[in-house]
Amino acid sequence: MVALLSHAQGTEAGLVICAGCGRELELPFMELDHITPKSDRGENHILNRILLCRPCNGHKRDNLTLQGLMRQNRKNDWMRNKELAQQARDWAQERAEWVRDHYGTTDYWELLDLPSSSPGYPGRLF
Ligand SMILES: [Zn+2]
Repeated sequence: MVALLSHAQGTEAGLVICAGCGRELELPFMELDHITPKSDRGENHILNRILLCRPCNGHKRDNLTLQGLMRQNRKNDWMRNKELAQQARDWAQERAEWVRDHYGTTDYWELLDLPSSSPGYPGRLF
């Protein structure tokens, strides 16, 4: 899941764009978040997951939706690039919908660059 999203939210320079604030960071500084918090019945499915920078994820926790986080970031002057953050979210959403529609197909395994016989992989994604 992290691989799929970091690819979707990635830049040509190999950085990952935070969907909360638009900062471009290296993957180790990103965390996998639930767009709708688990406490609000948000699912673990990739359609509900997004990569955020550590400060954004720490601020969001279970208290905010992604839209709520973006509003707070603008209010608190933490928003670096609103357009880029929105773009990262759109890319992640497109990737998630593609995964939903192509899960388990040859195209899917090629995207992951894995042989379809790899044991255990489906279980890691959702
Ligand atoms: Zn951020």
